[in-house]
Amino acid sequence: MGGPTCRSCSGRSGHLVLDLGRQPACDHFPESDDPGPDPGYPLQMWLCSSCGLAQLVGEPIAAEEPRGVEPEALVAQAADAVERLAAAGWLAGRCRAAEFPSPHGGSWLGLLADRGVDPVPPGAESADVVIDSFGMMHDPDQSAALAERVSHVAAGGVLLLQYHSLNTIVSLGQWNALRHGHFAYYSTSVLVGMLEANGFSARTAWHFDLYGGTVLLAASREPDTRVARDGSVDALLSDDARAGVRDPEVVESLQDQAESHTRGLRDWLVAQRAAGRSVLGYGAASRAVSLLCGAGVDRGLMSAIVDTSPAKHGLRMPGTDIPIIGPAELATHPPHAVLLFVPDLLTEVRRSFPEVERSGGRWVDAEALRASERSGTVASATHS
Ligand SMILES: [Zn+2]
Repeated sequence: MGGPTCRSCSGRSGHLVLDLGRQPACDHFPESDDPGPDPGYPLQMWLCSSCGLAQLVGEPIAAEEPRGVEPEALVAQAADAVERLAAAGWLAGRCRAAEFPSPHGGSWLGLLADRGVDPVPPGAESADVVIDSFGMMHDPDQSAALAERVSHVAAGGVLLLQYHSLNTIVSLGQWNALRHGHFAYYSTSVLVGMLEANGFSARTAWHFDLYGGTVLLAASREPDTRVARDGSVDALLSDDARAGVRDPEVVESLQDQAESHTRGLRDWLVAQRAAGRSVLGYGAASRAVSLLCGAGVDRGLMSAIVDTSPAKHGLRMPGTDIPIIGPAELATHPPHAVLLFVPDLLTEVRRSFPEVERSGGRWVDAEALRASERSGTVASATHS
């Protein structure tokens, strides 16, 4: 039968844990006058019973991703991460760095060069520090992707893998982390196993608040006795075991979260419209696509989404008629509420667009609009 085959271990047994039906390609933004309908593709997450990797089902779909603006939060986190690596001695005696790119941006090479770890020249086979920050999840073949990264680590070198953890996704109900183009959703527990299968051992882990919970794992080849595994990795493994990140019944909770979130968003927008309150969105992010489509939001409920990336202006959100506009509107016609689709931007946008709050408007975290099953009320987090 044609069930999924694990992208990492080739296992054939597993569970469909999240099914969002057909969704448009989340990185293809049509021209705003393109009436659609946009083609839809199944969007499903499957959890491998053999190795525990949560993964996207199906073949890659081609999409051209307009280059977004790097959020300050991503840039600040990279600086924080490199500082912590240096403080823990991981850069000492290492002088060549190589980086696997991510479409999300956020290169660490400049930060490492400032600390004397220079990028390897093009064509170099190995480096002392090999970095992958939110890159590897974009590879449909997870087994080959990790083998390639490992193969570039010089003797005595370190592999640094940074990922938005499945533990975060499940515990915070971030069901819309699932998207076309993101083929793997790593728990620390699974990634440690994947590394071991490649002769590598995770030695240290750091936790960051980015995306609600991001992990950086430092791994080196066995038997590299230079650094022993410290308690940080084991602490994350215990957290994963407690949370049940390999248990399909636990990961399936994302399906209920998707329903409560789309209903909560729609109910809130309908209530705003009924009260005569204007709403703009902020952040034409991939994660907003399945949320807006699932909630059936069109420009009758939200007139536009503001994004600072000029490449997206004049386009519209996939799967709906909501146009993407520049930030000038926030100053000329401040709305009653701005629905923020990327909570990591909150500090940055409050500072950049003070006119919103000055005119009595508020920033509302779109991630927090969840319908409660019991009362049917919508919880909302307001920042003012
Ligand atoms: Zn597997």
